[in-house]
Amino acid sequence: MGKADLHIHTTYSDGSADPGQVLLRARDAGLDTVAIADHNTIEGALAARRLAARWRLPVAVIVAEEVSTADGHVLGLFLERPIRPLLSAAATVDEIHRQGGLAVAVHPFSWWLRLFRCGGVARLVERLQFDAIETVNGAVTEQLANFRTKAYNRRVARLAELGGSDAHTVEAVGQAYTVYPGRGQALLRQAIYHKATRTGRSRGTMAALTGFLKSYLAGRMDLYGPKGGALTAGGGVTGI
Ligand SMILES: [Zn+2]
Ligand SMILES: [Zn+2]
Repeated sequence: MGKADLHIHTTYSDGSADPGQVLLRARDAGLDTVAIADHNTIEGALAARRLAARWRLPVAVIVAEEVSTADGHVLGLFLERPIRPLLSAAATVDEIHRQGGLAVAVHPFSWWLRLFRCGGVARLVERLQFDAIETVNGAVTEQLANFRTKAYNRRVARLAELGGSDAHTVEAVGQAYTVYPGRGQALLRQAIYHKATRTGRSRGTMAALTGFLKSYLAGRMDLYGPKGGALTAGGGVTGI
């Protein structure tokens, strides 16, 4: 079985760990694949991919982007080019598909992130051509919303279920993950297509909470702020 963390931020957006730190942690956590999914940029993912090759790490890097669309955050996996923010979610999903990528509705029902204009697409999940839905988001703030997302998906959307840490610190990498038959990016794509993915968690909520607070209080993260993918009141995206 493969084990992939499909939602990781680095210093290229609002994370506190650089791509190298993320990769080493991923290897130690037994992940065979990671998606580096910075807000509104693929530069961190490209840097991670180069490093993984140079260091000959057994960790595949998926080039991804968590796009701030006008309707909420949308994750593009397997991208070739950056996607600009502030398009509608529908246009963003189309652009992801044009590149041969997969579109994921991340934290679709997060009430917490919505407070900071960093929410998900909510029930647009049903209307757009998403390939998968993040039913387990590793952030401490998302645990209740995860239940709702999972129930909604089983009842209504019926998409492939993914787990991602939404890590903004090195300790959080791998705290939530996706398990799939086989290993490697091609088989992961196939598993998503056949809805054969499963989600998992490796870290207790308390450990996640203390790690998160420590990093936040140390001022190492810029969550919900300039680089955090928030839409401003005027409809712009800050920090890009
Ligand atoms: Zn987000
Ligand atoms: Zn995120």
